[in-house]
Amino acid sequence: MNVERHAGDGRPVIIGCGIAGLMTALHLAPEPVLLLSKSALGTEASSALAQGGLAASLGAEDNPALHLADTLAGGDGLCDVHAASSIVHAAAAEVEALAGLGVRFDRDHSGKPLLGLEAAHSRHRIVHAEGDGTGRELVRALIAAVHNTPSITVIQGVEARRLITHEGAIAGMLAEGPRGPVLLATQRVVIATGGIGGLFLDTTNPLGCFGQGLALAARAGAELSDMEFIQFHPTALDGPARPMHLVSEAVRGEGAILIDEAGRRFLEGADLAARDIVARAVWKHLAEDHKVYLDARQRPGPDFASRFPAIHSFCKRAGIDPVNDPIPIRPAAHYHMGGIAVGGDGRSSVNGLWACGEAASTGLHGANRLASNSLTEAVVCSRQVAQSVAGTVPQSARQPVATAMPPQPDPASVRPILSRALGVLRTGEGLSSAVASLLPIAQGHTTASDPAAVGLMIAIAALQREESRGAHFRTDVPQKAALALRSRLSLNEALDAAHALPLETTFPHARSA
Ligand SMILES: Cc1cc2nc3c(=O)[nH]c(=O)nc-3n(C[C@H](O)[C@H](O)[C@H](O)COP(=O)(O)OP(=O)(O)OC[C@H]3O[C@@H](n4cnc5c(N)ncnc54)[C@H](O)[C@@H]3O)c2cc1C
Repeated sequence: MNVERHAGDGRPVIIGCGIAGLMTALHLAPEPVLLLSKSALGTEASSALAQGGLAASLGAEDNPALHLADTLAGGDGLCDVHAASSIVHAAAAEVEALAGLGVRFDRDHSGKPLLGLEAAHSRHRIVHAEGDGTGRELVRALIAAVHNTPSITVIQGVEARRLITHEGAIAGMLAEGPRGPVLLATQRVVIATGGIGGLFLDTTNPLGCFGQGLALAARAGAELSDMEFIQFHPTALDGPARPMHLVSEAVRGEGAILIDEAGRRFLEGADLAARDIVARAVWKHLAEDHKVYLDARQRPGPDFASRFPAIHSFCKRAGIDPVNDPIPIRPAAHYHMGGIAVGGDGRSSVNGLWACGEAASTGLHGANRLASNSLTEAVVCSRQVAQSVAGTVPQSARQPVATAMPPQPDPASVRPILSRALGVLRTGEGLSSAVASLLPIAQGHTTASDPAAVGLMIAIAALQREESRGAHFRTDVPQKAALALRSRLSLNEALDAAHALPLETTFPHARSA
């Protein structure tokens, strides 16, 4: 294989140009870094799509202890209290730091940030920009800041395919660029590749967000945690567009209600309950052959276009006028609480490997993320990750030896398997069957192998969690276990667990063969 050795050898490499990657690179300045993205800056990142905003206890009636209490309640016993506390306490200062980087938050006449209310937050604490264009504004300002930072070398159109390890530590990375394979020698890699929604048929995430960073980390030997916890947003616009457009919770925060085709409020006033509760109710109602709508005609009513310009515009493009028509909705895979297991400084279990943003599992979210806590997490943790990376002196290592270049990953064949078994409602039988389908693909060397490996780890974690908690709901075990324990597993452990399943479950065709 002809491999180009990149001139930036030895610098830390950050994979992913969403908010987590951009901010980690900015915090590392003036240390030279390579910032890598498979897509053009500002595209194919969930960050740019964020509508609601970021949670920070800035209101007169609010404080970090209240924010923490709401976060822990949402996490349903599985948050890492220490991690959650440190993140929510740092949030307010990071809002000011973002403003210093040029982010134009929406403010009141006295200059204080306007604060929105979202599901399961007991106070107005969602800082936003351009109404529902928060992510777009954040990404705009951060890209401008990155372009003004000479220590950051941005490489676009390059896809990370494998991490190379030597004696259990990161030694380099193999990527595919426009001119062919690239081998980067580095002993410090930060994975900031975002979520896994692209592993599902119905998702709000850019379709390129299908957990590539989790596959990179898992195949390098890293442990992943909380993999079974996937948040389904209850109100994605029900239509043919993929990714699906998200009708933010903030719309319900401003008075919109959920109704069915008969105009009945089937949630009986619990329209702003936690996301998992609303998603299950909507999923069940749809399964019973109803249609479900978000009704914003009364409230916010005529203010809809000014308060939610982006949502208003995509609804109009789909032929729906939110002021006069109820908006058809359905749940969609939206956010992954799990990911690469990291400590407070973002370090994974592999030497030289950090993770930040949605790809990381810090323990902030537990079994269910509170709306707008993820941008807060990415913004706060990027500073901690950068400090840890900067403080780690790379050991002199051998030049990495290029392994075979894996094919470009494609999750298309994995999506139906995960959508069937790992949606809002799960069963042990469905999960076993997903494991049986995913195992041979994950062990192969095809375009679907990396997505299947991530899917397999999710399915095994979901199968091993014999309870219903937070966003993980099994109709065969609807109750909560007495003990709340976070899951943590390596790819080898997931493969061993899959092989240990009863023959007829794991290999349904083996008997007749
Ligand atoms: C529609 C929508 C609305 C949301 N609204 C909110 C909100 O209001 N508040 C909130 O807190 N959260 C919100 N979220 C969640 C939040 O936006 C994400 O969790 C967060 O932006 C993730 O940031 P990130 O930097 O980790 O990843 P992303 O922003 O997804 O960036 C990932 C980057 O990694 C790159 N990448 C992936 N794989 C590779 C590879 N192999 N090689 C090279 N590059 C790679 C991608 O191209 C991309 O640049 C929303 C999410 C969606 C989808």
